[in-house]
Amino acid sequence: MAEDTIFAKIARGEVPARIVYQDNDVTAFYDVAPAAPKHVLIIPNKPIRTLNDATEADRRVLGQMLLVARQVAADLGVAESGYRLVMNCNRDGGQSVWHLHLHLLAGRTLSWPPG
Ligand code: AMP
Repeated sequence: MAEDTIFAKIARGEVPARIVYQDNDVTAFYDVAPAAPKHVLIIPNKPIRTLNDATEADRRVLGQMLLVARQVAADLGVAESGYRLVMNCNRDGGQSVWHLHLHLLAGRTLSWPPG
């Protein structure tokens, strides 16, 4: 079982966030320290610590995260200009919050490769 993180509290409405989308499975909200003009995080409402901890039972929520990312990109008006989805995993991946999350970054030309 994953620990109770700030993201689990946001999903439960116990910590304020600028939520842009929520359903029974997934919540999307603006990143508090944006790395791009548009930076939204998409999380499963249920705590999953890292992608390594996801199981076959999480197949549906993992798919829903991608579909929500697509919808958020459209709602933000960046679907055509483009966006990047990033999921950091563990130390070398740069993960700092131990509740699975997908970054949606947009609003400027993003460089590649990432640092
Ligand atoms: P990562 O480094 O991939 O684990 O990303 C964690 C992200 O969560 C960072 O971009 C942080 O700026 C963001 N973050 C941390 N706390 C909050 C919060 N309370 N509300 C919104 N975003 C947050």
